[in-house]
Amino acid sequence: MATSNGEFVAAAPVALDLEVHWIDGTDPDEPRYQIHQIETHTFVIRQSLRVSAEAPFIYLLFGDSRALLIDTGATEDSTAWPLREVVDQLIEDWLTAHPRSDYELVVAHSHGHQDHTAGDDQFHDRPQTTVVSSELAAIVDYFGFSEWPSGSARLDLGRRELLLVPSPGHHEAAITFYDPWTGVLFTGDTVYPGRLYVQDMQAFKSTIGRLAALTGTKPVTHILGCHIELSRHPGKDYPLGAREHPGERPLPMTASQLRAVHTTAAERANQPGVHVHEDFILYNGRRIRDHLKLLIRSRRSPLGVLPAAVVLLLLAGRDWVADHRLFNRPEKRTSNDAGRQ
Ligand SMILES: [Zn+2]
Repeated sequence: MATSNGEFVAAAPVALDLEVHWIDGTDPDEPRYQIHQIETHTFVIRQSLRVSAEAPFIYLLFGDSRALLIDTGATEDSTAWPLREVVDQLIEDWLTAHPRSDYELVVAHSHGHQDHTAGDDQFHDRPQTTVVSSELAAIVDYFGFSEWPSGSARLDLGRRELLLVPSPGHHEAAITFYDPWTGVLFTGDTVYPGRLYVQDMQAFKSTIGRLAALTGTKPVTHILGCHIELSRHPGKDYPLGAREHPGERPLPMTASQLRAVHTTAAERANQPGVHVHEDFILYNGRRIRDHLKLLIRSRRSPLGVLPAAVVLLLLAGRDWVADHRLFNRPEKRTSNDAGRQ
């Protein structure tokens, strides 16, 4: 049984340390991942661009009776991407500092694209662990959404109760997690400093409207998504598949930037195509010409590959950009050291 040691009794939201220089691929020998503790009970893990060009961010939140892992990264191979090992160590360290028995882990997802779920298998045999499927029906059932997407659900980690907001638009089963303890909105690929690929604009508009409304009723200190694709130059993104992000902008976004996404989505809802804002780039729909431009810019796509990619795109009719596996192959590595700060 869990015992309380007086954690989670401070006035929330607590102060966060988000001053961090993330690994950005500019050092070819950078570690496979980087861990950053933003406060006593919350960790951010970034996967290296050298392992996956998606370089997603993963979040680990500790509560009094269980922890929540949001996403499992872009790579299945546990040697290239040892997330289970990382999470096990973080939980062990946390439990040493905050002893509890029968401590559980819930593995859930911001959404079901492959760059956020690839590490799931590493957790299926972990004791006292629930891996929630990223399928919509399973999500509605597990978290107990009474209405999707208009309702919400709660996930109690033990004295740290998260509010879960359905967030379809980029992906039909996307969820935003609001954490009153830190005041953070964990927005997945719905809102982040990068290319916001919208598959269903009506759903996206409603989602952003709900999130914008939430920033008016709850203390939202930071918005943390799952990628960085923009440099510090306004509206300037890195090529798709880039293994280096020199001069990346910070990960956190603000409530006012979220409202700008809302405004842009409302204004551009009937205009398929690419809408560049200084803090994000909105891809409304799946126009082939927009995806082709991304491919042409990509340093990893020699022109000879293009015809095949186009044919694949047309035949498969799938949103390959949303889980661009083409670019997910790990690079060969010489160093396996893990970074931590
Ligand atoms: Zn993603």
